Amino acid sequence: MRALIIDGDKVESPVAFDVIDPATGAAFASCPQATPALVDRAVAAAARAQAGWAGLSVEERARCLEELAEAMERKAPSLAALLSREQGKPTHVGAAGEIAGSVKWLRETAKLRLPVETLQDDPSGRIELHRKPLGVVASITPWNFPVMIAVWHFAPALLTGNTVIIKPSSFTPLTTLRVAEIAADIFPRGVLNVVAGDGGIGGLLTSHSGVSKVVFTGSTPTGRKIMAAASGNLKRLTLELGGNDAGIVLEDADVDAIAPKIFQKAFGNSGQICAALKRLYIHESIHDRLAERLAEMARSAVVGPGDDQKSQFGPLQNKAQFDFVCELADDARARGGRFLVGGEPMAGPGYFFPLSVAVDVSDGMRIVDEEQFGPLLPAIKFADEEDALARANANPNGLGGSVWSSNIEGAAALARRLECGTTWVNDHSTVSPTIPFGGAKQSGVGVEFGVEGLREFTQVQVLRTPAA
Ligand code: NDP
Repeated sequence: MRALIIDGDKVESPVAFDVIDPATGAAFASCPQATPALVDRAVAAAARAQAGWAGLSVEERARCLEELAEAMERKAPSLAALLSREQGKPTHVGAAGEIAGSVKWLRETAKLRLPVETLQDDPSGRIELHRKPLGVVASITPWNFPVMIAVWHFAPALLTGNTVIIKPSSFTPLTTLRVAEIAADIFPRGVLNVVAGDGGIGGLLTSHSGVSKVVFTGSTPTGRKIMAAASGNLKRLTLELGGNDAGIVLEDADVDAIAPKIFQKAFGNSGQICAALKRLYIHESIHDRLAERLAEMARSAVVGPGDDQKSQFGPLQNKAQFDFVCELADDARARGGRFLVGGEPMAGPGYFFPLSVAVDVSDGMRIVDEEQFGPLLPAIKFADEEDALARANANPNGLGGSVWSSNIEGAAALARRLECGTTWVNDHSTVSPTIPFGGAKQSGVGVEFGVEGLREFTQVQVLRTPAA
């Protein structure tokens, strides 16, 4: 059994919970459950460590992040195997890719800087804008990219001089604990802590008076609870919540060129990506051809256990998500939707659902209106561009959106009218460590990545000095 990581130590707990292998539906490991006393201990350790950590130079803090990247790279095969086992994604593609991406993100984030800005320097005086760390940051992470998202949270927080307590999803706590164990040999005590346990433990952190900021990735309902819990001491918040991203495929799009990319952006990680393409609006003149091309690719895709080299896509991560995807597929069928491929769970143990393309579906059906977070792609017909845009925007979420066309300029003009945090032309869901990413409407608060993302972990302090 893994231990919690508090104040640089491996800490046992009297209580533990099972971690399920989504490929079998059976428990394969046990994880220590934090207690309220251990949460307090982690917050106290992080608070004690913070001034010393912030007192190091940014170059020294960046060096620790780079050392962690190197150590993770050296241990990549074992990290990927553990990640695949608990999350479900194939070891050789998804899990190895997540570890490699995390290493890259650590290195790129370590290069970012927030220099002091001079706002005014004239005979009337000098005014500088400094950015100070907030203190102790709680990072609450989900189960779709447990390691990558933890890195997205803790790398900018640590670089800017905060200390961190991560609370991983109870579905996928193990690889995060392993990463923190590796980090304990690199970072000073108390700088990076991990406490595992269910939403109750998350709730203790998000309402804790010793925590100054919460960075959360997960569902919108939980985001709302966190916002309420954080109000006690006015915690700063970055919330990266659900999406129901629309892609609009215009009449002039090159079906052969875009089909493989749309396929990848809808079904990557078995659709369990916050900014996956989840509603595909296709012009009626090319709808059937594109839907059939996507279905063809889905038919030849190999969905299987993560440790099988032949698997290209893994199972749904947990039973609740699997049941939800089954429910949306049943609802679509009951309301006249038709699956060109998939639409029914796969036989056998585990939470396997095939890559599925649904047609004869439209807005007002659950498969379109709700975030599937699984391998279900509704291909929706439209006749008029303005109508497609209005339907794409008629959703409370606003994470990402895309327009697909051979006319880049025209597509960009339409993309700018999508109500979301990131828009792409002939692409979707691509993110980079130096480019800000965040949701509009109910998809979130604040942004991650790049210098804009770093700023979210700081408090502005203005220094006014008289002219010399
Ligand atoms: P949640 O939002 O419930 O969980 C995400 C994290 O929040 C987990 O670590 C969870 O802990 C924790 N948590 C739960 N309740 C609280 C609380 N009251 N206070 C503080 N932390 C809390 O997501 P689910 O796992 O339930 O997934 C549900 C849906 O969320 C999915 O169907 C999908 O639509 C969406 N989702 C979106 C993601 C994204 O990337 N934007 C990622 C994952 C899910 P624990 O699980 O241990 O209880």
